[in-house]
Amino acid sequence: MGKKKSVNRKSNTFIVLVVILAILLLSSRTCRLSRRNLSPVNPETTSETVYSQNPDSLKIHKKEPMPEISQPDKNILLGKPSRSQRDSLLTLVERKYANRDGMFMHRKAYDAFLKMHEAAKTDGIELIIVSAFRDFNHQARIWNNKWNGQQVLSGNIKATEISNPIERAREILRFSAMPGTSRHHWGTDIDLNSLNNRYFESGRGKREYEWLVENASKFGFCQPYTPKDSGRESGYEEEKWHWSYTPVSAQWLSFYQKQITYDDIKGFDGWETARLLSVIERYVLSVNDDCMNP
Ligand SMILES: [Zn+2]
Repeated sequence: MGKKKSVNRKSNTFIVLVVILAILLLSSRTCRLSRRNLSPVNPETTSETVYSQNPDSLKIHKKEPMPEISQPDKNILLGKPSRSQRDSLLTLVERKYANRDGMFMHRKAYDAFLKMHEAAKTDGIELIIVSAFRDFNHQARIWNNKWNGQQVLSGNIKATEISNPIERAREILRFSAMPGTSRHHWGTDIDLNSLNNRYFESGRGKREYEWLVENASKFGFCQPYTPKDSGRESGYEEEKWHWSYTPVSAQWLSFYQKQITYDDIKGFDGWETARLLSVIERYVLSVNDDCMNP
């Protein structure tokens, strides 16, 4: 009898131990799972993890070294980042580098710009940002104002004078991108000093442009919209003021090419013309070769 009792006690203790072990195992697993289910806005995650498309890759990224640039999701490429994506992607441009308050840039592009700005200053050249990140809604205001004749186009014409929608869009597209297709959506691209090619053709502007052509590539910047007889056959007119931070933007351009379709380009006046004008192929992808290779 005594022996049986002691065996029973031993097996009871064993069962209790197994149960405790099972509870401990289960609770640590639940803990891990709930940590994984946290929103990507976790302050510990970096901008790279936030932009991952696949939620499972969050787990992978934490174990492996971060890739230099990870694939941004569609909304970022289209200028529609969420608040948390915007916060981790962009940084405020200091007022002294810009012609107004409240401009934002991609963090990496801004770091590179600061170095370029300093080098230019040493050479007696002042670089001032006149436009940087613009989201989809901002670009839609610019586009719709032009489409509806509230803002005149270059050459002092109103788009409303052109009744054919394809021709009207083509005229606006000489200098303005359709919402969802602008490189300014990425925060990697900036307009410097003036929005007028003529400014860069003489005096101070000429010296600034020549400095940029000579030096911008040392800091990772390229001019996407060179003259159309310089290898680009279609797309926007030359823009001497528009510079892009290639180490990020060249990769984002290739992501754009793979991910974005004409079904994604809508939500503004005349959006139906995007497909008819092959805006992705003829405008977004028609940039200077220097801007294609990071
Ligand atoms: Zn621009």
